[in-house]
Formats: sequence, structure tokens, C-alpha cells
Amino acid sequence: MLTTLVVSPSCATCHRPKAACVCDRIVSYPTARRVLILQHPQERDALLGSAQILEASLPKARIVVGLSWRNLGHALGEEGVNSSRWAVLFPDRETPGDQLTTRRGAPLDAASLEGVIVLDGTWSKAKTLWWRNPWLNKLNRMALTPEKPSIYGRLRAEPRREFVSTLESVAHALTLCGESPEVQQALERVFRTLVQRVRDAKLIPSPAHRPPRLKRGA
Ligand SMILES: [Zn+2]
Repeated sequence: MLTTLVVSPSCATCHRPKAACVCDRIVSYPTARRVLILQHPQERDALLGSAQILEASLPKARIVVGLSWRNLGHALGEEGVNSSRWAVLFPDRETPGDQLTTRRGAPLDAASLEGVIVLDGTWSKAKTLWWRNPWLNKLNRMALTPEKPSIYGRLRAEPRREFVSTLESVAHALTLCGESPEVQQALERVFRTLVQRVRDAKLIPSPAHRPPRLKRGA
């Protein structure tokens, strides 16, 4: 049996089903910082994937699809990249609050950053990318504590509160670097519209509407 996803016409730009397309809401926001999105190949056509919104909205954002790269320059396809002015976003279990540190844990000024790197995929896919790219481990790290729960709500189950979407992480990081907070607000608004359209079109049944799973022994 064909699913709704397969039969519904999709947008040529974002490849989402037309009912979930938010291309009409995209506005371009120039930023001083660059954004490199390392996307797990299996995340490419995710209905709720937010990386495409970032790339469409930020002239300095780029998605690179793959599993491993030799170093930052290789991922960017550029030579002479100063990786000491980049930071990778990664959830930190131990320290609450927003932190930007060198790989050795020394605090760093976010305003000095030229770019941020984000791993795009579910928690387990992001973990795969992390382990397959040892050069990431040598970069500055930015750990973010979200101020609010993810806009995903219950549409996408992640194991911990700090696992928000790629878009929310990047938007937060850019504000921390000194970009206008309006960029964060605008990006979050588009993402909220996406989640709302997916919900309205019932493209993903919300876990709240699924029958409860039987408890063991019940
Ligand atoms: Zn679209």
C-alpha cells in the first residue's frame, strides 16, 4: 500500500510534500558568520528536516551530505581554512548553560568565531557523524542549553531536552555569536510553520494519537 508521503506531490525546491512546504515563508538573512551543516545521508529527505530551511534562509549556510571528511577544509571544499575560528555544536551532558570553549576547555569569545558546524540527523545519526570525523574532536566546541523545549514538540522523540532541531541549535548559536536576534526569531518562525503544516496535514501521526503501548506483563 502506498503511503500518503509517496502519493502526494512534492515541492521541487524543498522536496517536501506540498502540504508541508514552507518555501513561501523563506526570507534571506545575511549573517557575518558561516554555517556548515554536515548532513547524514539518511537525513536528506526527512519531512521535518530543518537544515534545508537554514540553507535557504542564510546566504552563508551550506549543507554537505556525507559520512566522513578528512578535515574542515575538505568538508568545505576550500583550502586555507582557519579551523581555530570555527566551533562545532554538540550537546554537553555535564555543563548547563551556553558554553564556547577550546578543545581543552578554555573559554572562548563567541564574537571571534567565523563559522559554526552542526551535525544534522537524529541523535544516533549525529553520534555516527561525530565518531566518523575525528577532526571534529579537535575543534572549539559550543554547547547550548535550549531556553525552551524544541518546536518539534512530540512529533520527533529525542532522548533529552537539549536535543533540539538543527535549525534551533544554529539559530541560538548565531545569536550567541552576536548576530541579530531577529535572525533567530525569523528562522524559528519558519520552522514553527513547518511543524504546524506537517501536523495539520497529518503527515506524521503524533505519538499522543497513537494507541498506548501495552506495558510488559499487562
Ligand atoms: Zn518547498
